[in-house]
Amino acid sequence: MQMKRLSIVVPVYNEEANIRPFYRAVCQEMSQLPYDWELLFVDDGSGDDSWHILETLAEGDARVRPMQLSRNMGHQLALTCGMDHAEGDAVITMDGDMQHPPALIPVLARRWEEGYDIVQTVRLETEDAPLLKRISSRAYYRLLNLISDVPILEGGSDFRLMDMRVLHVFRRYREHARFIRGMISTLGFRRTLVEFVAPPRHAGYSKFSLRKMLSLAIDGVIACSTLPLRFGLYMGGFCALVGIAIFAHAVREKYIFQDAVLGWASILGSIVFFGGMQLVALGFIGIYIGHIFEEVKRRPLYIVQHPKPRDTEKSPNVSREEGERH
Ligand code: UDP
Ligand code: MG
Repeated sequence: MQMKRLSIVVPVYNEEANIRPFYRAVCQEMSQLPYDWELLFVDDGSGDDSWHILETLAEGDARVRPMQLSRNMGHQLALTCGMDHAEGDAVITMDGDMQHPPALIPVLARRWEEGYDIVQTVRLETEDAPLLKRISSRAYYRLLNLISDVPILEGGSDFRLMDMRVLHVFRRYREHARFIRGMISTLGFRRTLVEFVAPPRHAGYSKFSLRKMLSLAIDGVIACSTLPLRFGLYMGGFCALVGIAIFAHAVREKYIFQDAVLGWASILGSIVFFGGMQLVALGFIGIYIGHIFEEVKRRPLYIVQHPKPRDTEKSPNVSREEGERH
């Protein structure tokens, strides 16, 4: 019988000091497992020596498949590129900085063999995460769960195993604003959880700048909820009621108490208040319309620079140059 094949997908962005130790750790774990495997590195436009290291690794080991995006497109799109091109019976996505311990691969594989289609890891703690990151992450997931249509796991990371049939469904989700964790939660299938504590980064520093984190947070809200779009409606309704109350109060002052001096401050206050509310609602609408605009353009999700399309006729699912389905 042919051996089952595991694809390991790893996005890397300026990880020159981590790639080799990570590769060695994966080799060590996989040597104890009865699987054929491939290690798909997606270089997300690194400016350091990462791509060179990946090419060297691939020359010495045919199981290593390096891909290079034409520029830095972000962790979620690099992951998507890898997931599109994986050819195994199951795919494991993980970070290349050892914060997703390769030692967990056998555990994920075991749960998969038990019949689970999605083995999702849950980060109990990140040993080197600053306090502010921990607190903001927790608050964010609370908020997201409050407004999301599907439950989103707190501490759920992009370290997971997915059976090929889940991946086939996932590949049909082609939106740009991606929050893969949330998208996977909407798929269903048989899912189980594996908890872990994320060790500190092996080397280098976090590539998730504040800007990237904020952008992921907004994409998360947009991917999981349309509540902000309705926020204007709720606030508008509330403000209208307040307006009616003020009007009723003015009428009462004038006709019942004959005391019609209404302060200019309250008028100014309400103008500012309502103006502010309108701007908030417009802002939310703007965010969504901006995303609708991005989506209707139907641009490729990512652009692969290496390998060239003709080198890789193997991938049947996605056109390599475009990250778009046929
Ligand atoms: N990464 C990427 N593109 C980016 C940012 C990060 O491919 O624009 C990769 C990075 O090389 C690492 C993984 O995504 O393998 C997780 O990033 P990082 O460790 O910096 O995030 P953190 O663990 O600090 O949240
Ligand atoms: Mg990390």
